[in-house]
Amino acid sequence: GTTATRYLYDMSEGDATMRTVLGGKGANLAEMKRLGIPVPDGFTVSTAACVATMDAHGEWPEGLWEDTLTALARLEERTGRTLGGSTRPLLVSVRSGAVFSMPGMMDTILNLGIGDETVEALGAEADNPRFAWDSYRRFLQMYGDVVEGVPPHVYEDELTALKARRGVEQDTDLSTEDLKELVQTFKEVSRRELGHDLPSDPREQLRGAIDAVFRSWDTPRARVYRKANDIPDDLGTAVNVMQMVFGNRGETSATGVCFTRNPSTGAKELYGEFLVNAQGEDVVAGIRTPRPLSEMEQVLPEAYTQLVQTMHDLEAHYKDMQDIEFTVEDGTLYLLQTRNGKRTAAAALKVARDLVDEQVLSREEALRHIAPSQLDQLLHPAIDPEHGRTPITKGLPASPGAAVGEVVFDADTAAERGAAGEPVVLVRYETTPDDIHGVIVAQGVLTAHGGMTSHAAVVARGMGKPCVAGAHAIRINVSDKTLTVGGQVFHEGDMITLDGSTGDVYGEALELVPPQVNEDFGAIVGWADEIRRLGVRANADTGEDAAKARELGAEGIGLCRTEHMFMAADRLPAVRQMILAETVEDRAEALATILPMQQEDFEAIFTAMKGLPVTVRLLDPPLHEFLPDLVEQSLLVQRLELTGGDPDELDRARTLLGSVKRLHEQNPMLGTRGCRLAMLYPEIPEMQTRAIIRAALAVREREGETVGVEIMIPLVAFASELKAQRGVVERTVADELEAAGEQLDVTVGTMIELPRAAIVADQIAEHADFFSFGTNDLTQTGIGISRDDAEGGFLSDYVSEEVIPANPFESIDRDGIGGLVQIGAERGRSTKPDLKLGVCGEHGGDPASIALFEELGLSYVSCSPYRVPIARFAAARAVL
Ligand code: ADP
Ligand code: MG
Ligand code: MG
Repeated sequence: GTTATRYLYDMSEGDATMRTVLGGKGANLAEMKRLGIPVPDGFTVSTAACVATMDAHGEWPEGLWEDTLTALARLEERTGRTLGGSTRPLLVSVRSGAVFSMPGMMDTILNLGIGDETVEALGAEADNPRFAWDSYRRFLQMYGDVVEGVPPHVYEDELTALKARRGVEQDTDLSTEDLKELVQTFKEVSRRELGHDLPSDPREQLRGAIDAVFRSWDTPRARVYRKANDIPDDLGTAVNVMQMVFGNRGETSATGVCFTRNPSTGAKELYGEFLVNAQGEDVVAGIRTPRPLSEMEQVLPEAYTQLVQTMHDLEAHYKDMQDIEFTVEDGTLYLLQTRNGKRTAAAALKVARDLVDEQVLSREEALRHIAPSQLDQLLHPAIDPEHGRTPITKGLPASPGAAVGEVVFDADTAAERGAAGEPVVLVRYETTPDDIHGVIVAQGVLTAHGGMTSHAAVVARGMGKPCVAGAHAIRINVSDKTLTVGGQVFHEGDMITLDGSTGDVYGEALELVPPQVNEDFGAIVGWADEIRRLGVRANADTGEDAAKARELGAEGIGLCRTEHMFMAADRLPAVRQMILAETVEDRAEALATILPMQQEDFEAIFTAMKGLPVTVRLLDPPLHEFLPDLVEQSLLVQRLELTGGDPDELDRARTLLGSVKRLHEQNPMLGTRGCRLAMLYPEIPEMQTRAIIRAALAVREREGETVGVEIMIPLVAFASELKAQRGVVERTVADELEAAGEQLDVTVGTMIELPRAAIVADQIAEHADFFSFGTNDLTQTGIGISRDDAEGGFLSDYVSEEVIPANPFESIDRDGIGGLVQIGAERGRSTKPDLKLGVCGEHGGDPASIALFEELGLSYVSCSPYRVPIARFAAARAVL
């Protein structure tokens, strides 16, 4: 070919660094070949060819087919075999292989090149006609399904019917004659379905197969998988064409899958499964339930020893746990795939830690092996170990964790109910890659069939979904939507619980308990602390939360909201009295009642934080939040009027209604709140400041520890607001300290949560000792959306239709809101180079947002206590 972009690579030309061109599978096959590991020969059609074809709406780019034929000719030459040859035929597999692995999501065709003549030649060469006919029927089945789009059940039904006629259970029990008959049947049903014969020219088949693999990049399930795993849609897949080796040649042949460590627990032990006299698809698709790898030692001792050695070599070479596919043909071992194994969160941590202990990885490298989302998984609730209930059945512990939900029997229903927020457990005879949209929303997956290395199990582990596989005792009736086990019948919607760590299934909803963070977790987050630059604080409003935050490693409180302190049942009357007060004196009286209560709260928080800094935000929400709802209060007044009840009560209800009406705002989010409220009623910040200072002095006295007091003014838009509020706070602090005859360092800062504040941050910084970016409100006001209205409405459509990449309240909108943060940070520091810059709001616990905050050079993030470990970890990842 004379094309500018290169589309074809012989396997011997590649290596592990070429995954963007060759895909992960192709690059690793080439790497294994380079290392001298036995791999069948072949060539790879590059991802660029797939991308070019997609760009041209399915039209192959110029030169691609010619280049493919040339690469094929070279392969024929190297192997001394011919595709479609009547002697020494070459059979190949045509395998998908993307840059990021998508187990089972795309298509692969095996045994290509087999036909009416080659089947005889193959049988004669192997001295095993049965195997040749078995390969032929498999080819027709896969080609018809994958390339021509014949529904797979058409073939499965024929296979099942034939087995029933012969009275046998296993495919392997069918005779050569049976398989010949099946080949004829498969040809006929294909013709019936398609209106034409399957192509018999192997070159035409090759072109069709490569094209089908290109197309499989864009199937709904592949797209769903990519979306769930943040893989870009425009990468395309490579296609690997490889000489076939046959695990189905008889009793000295086998195929299997193994991991160099246990992908559920991370333990360094043999983990894998194999099947004698089978082809690879049988294991990974979960069609036959395979045998544990340890049994291979007896059956195929030499290949076993060689496999174990190769597993070891591959792990050492890649410095990571490997997921390996192999086939033994007549006693000889071949490797067919290796990749960094998908693993559970617990396994990821254990493997990373062990590899550091084994001096294979540095701590920094090990941290790169772990995704922040995996730490997140470990913080999910688990089944209460004290539950004392008996399981209804047990399957294989394919992916750990607890799943409680309603039984559903198909992926569409799971997706529907799951999207509606109902917890569901997807129960299937076996899962296929087409179930992926159901798996994503399900709490967990239960299958009657399939092993620990089936695609279902691999995908579940990769997504942190609990999975119990191969629970043979359950009977599933998909049309009746029932699950029967031990005489008990469960219908769609009945609750069950899965324990993916033990394989136990319970016929009821079990209690869950908070997770136990283990030693691996502590060690790894500890490494993160050595590396990260960003500080990590927590948002905490109570002593209890503050204690939890410290336990989880928070270095202070970045946001202590004081409104919760106003809401408690014992305070609300005093708070209402304050709001309803007609005069300054009345208000002062009510505030005096609240003050000691607030002081008590602050004491609890300061005590728990043992000298670490605490940023207290003064009252933020609009006052009407402390009053009853307008409609409800109107109804109450009406009811009292109608029933002619107690006149005093009616009077009170009317007064309250008057205040509710007076304080009612069309758009309270943009109304009288934050410092605007404090500007109207300076008595409120004054009271709060007094409570803070008294608490700080009391705790210092009692605990003998300093208290880091930082007072924060919310919703500032104008520098003058902060100047005025700072004045109130500073005067009150001075007053309190003088009265107590004490000294205390108190800093005063502000939230940056309005676009105007970000723009004039240089002016605001004149009056601020610190900024904290309130990115929740900054997102609302910066994009101009009300979170409460949007999240249930257009925002979710925007995300699903990809108008925007993510919910901006979950992960910061980098360009827009991130831009405002950048402006605020730069302008603030232009006034005060050392200005401390924090972030509070949910983005402070989101890894992608944390990466941005690191880039912008902020000082710390603050997030909810349970996200503190993730933030510590993500902050380290952000500098690696
Ligand atoms: P998937 O992404 O679904 O795992 P693969 O391309 O890895 O698809 O192929 C599926 C199975 O087919 C593999 O497990 C492997 O065992 C088998 N296979 C692929 N190529 C060959 C080959 N050349 N010889 C024998 N078996 C093969
Ligand atoms: Mg594979
Ligand atoms: Mg706010």
